[in-house]
Amino acid sequence: MTIQSVGRPTRPEGEASNTGFQSLTGGRGLLQNEPLIFELGGWSKTGVDIPPAEHDASDLAGLTRESVDLPGLSEPETMRHYVRLSQKNHAIDLAIYPLGSCTMKHNPRLNEKVARMAGFADLHPLAPVATTQGALQLMDRLAHWLKTLTGMPAVALAPKAGAHGELCGLLCIKAAHEAAGQSARRTVLVPTSAHGTNPATAAFVGYSVQEIAQTADGRVDLADLAAKLGPHVAAIMVTNPNTCGLFERDVISISKLTHEAGAYFYCDGANFNAIVGRVRPGDLGIDAMHINLHKTFSTPHGGGGPGAGPVVLSKALAPFAPAPWIVHREAGLGLTLVEEPEHEAAQAFGRMSAFQGQMGMFVRAYAYMRSHGADGLRQVAEDAVLNANYIKARMSGVMTAAFPDGPCMHEALFDDAWLEDTGVTTLDFAKAMIDEGFHPMTMYFPLVVHGAMLIEPTETESKRELDRFCDALCALAAAARLGDTERFKGAPYLAPLRRLDETLAARKPKLIWRPEIQPVPA
Ligand SMILES: *Cc1c(COP(=O)(O)O)cnc(C)c1O
Repeated sequence: MTIQSVGRPTRPEGEASNTGFQSLTGGRGLLQNEPLIFELGGWSKTGVDIPPAEHDASDLAGLTRESVDLPGLSEPETMRHYVRLSQKNHAIDLAIYPLGSCTMKHNPRLNEKVARMAGFADLHPLAPVATTQGALQLMDRLAHWLKTLTGMPAVALAPKAGAHGELCGLLCIKAAHEAAGQSARRTVLVPTSAHGTNPATAAFVGYSVQEIAQTADGRVDLADLAAKLGPHVAAIMVTNPNTCGLFERDVISISKLTHEAGAYFYCDGANFNAIVGRVRPGDLGIDAMHINLHKTFSTPHGGGGPGAGPVVLSKALAPFAPAPWIVHREAGLGLTLVEEPEHEAAQAFGRMSAFQGQMGMFVRAYAYMRSHGADGLRQVAEDAVLNANYIKARMSGVMTAAFPDGPCMHEALFDDAWLEDTGVTTLDFAKAMIDEGFHPMTMYFPLVVHGAMLIEPTETESKRELDRFCDALCALAAAARLGDTERFKGAPYLAPLRRLDETLAARKPKLIWRPEIQPVPA
């Protein structure tokens, strides 16, 4: 691998490449080597004509900027730069994206079409409610569906992701304890297999975190939970189905024990897609649960769109829900938003975000619900579980299932016992998948399973696609067993960039490009 002038690794070189072929330009197939936009653009040119300022610069009291240091590119150069970058990334629109826990499912185009309708897309958040009745109605219908599907009496729509929903839920719990004179409860119990956001959220709210042990069959250890509950515990945070892809069979006992100890039951609902339409969390004794609309309800993740993490709340927690929420005014007056912490909202703990949350995601999620209907949503859960079990069954003779007994829920979890003595690690195996055209599964999570590989196909993959994926895994597994370690140790050979120093990137991220520390292109 060579390093270019600004310290970024370039494409693989000679011996490291499978074919030994090296292009003259650093391009690959029809993909060009892509510099940063700052390296690409000139400083003296611009792609737009900016009219001279109307006001006298002296109005700015000496704060006038001489330059904003934007790289100057023409429209086609800018367009090509971003489209080329997009081609270097994997996307759910390109192939299966089997990241366990993340629920990367197809984003239906119908949702996109509805979200682009001018009545939704062009709304301003400060528009008077008299002019936004349609949007408020959609939020009200979405809230109704979320409450019905979860069997919970209230929902806060505003949180903007799962982790933000966890924060919302714990702030409700904290407010409820304070209102009941129970502020001495300072501990949150979290199972060892939890997603990192659970303990992080609890710590962020100011709680100390204590771990709950796991049983040999991958579930919450009830005896350990009972021993750790007490008058110092504010809440437990349990994921169900959990991050091992298993349903917590003792969930009713978990909620009973928790409530008897005076604590609240926060459920991480990121895996709701495995049970939607089949199990109502409200029936399990859950007090608060976030729902990732970008997981269960198919709205885009990350770069494809912001997340949304509405939180459903039990009767005990509902009075503390953050503003705003929708109320029906008397006949003929339509809907409005409760914005101020007074009257029925006097106990609200505050706000989670400016305005009402991710409106565009509400529209997409509601379109998804309405296009599936209640029976269709139930089938989503059934098909997600069926697909994961298909992978578990097909791969169990080849890889080692972490919990071989019985079926899994919506994701199949393997450990690295089957790689022992091959000289190949989970990381090597995942990187080799990239060369075969498949995005790797989630690696090394949950932490309770050694060398974990967590595969979540979702209901949107066909049997044909699942078979292609399993065929690739089988072929790679055979190569690993035959001792073809070269294939794994240097992988990925065919990606635009190879193995990056992820630790350095996380510890010392370079988030801005500075001309003073990097050479300005001529
Ligand atoms: C995705 C996920 C989260 C966090 O949700 P974000 O929307 O990414 O903030 C929390 N817990 C589990 C189990 C998850 O899979």
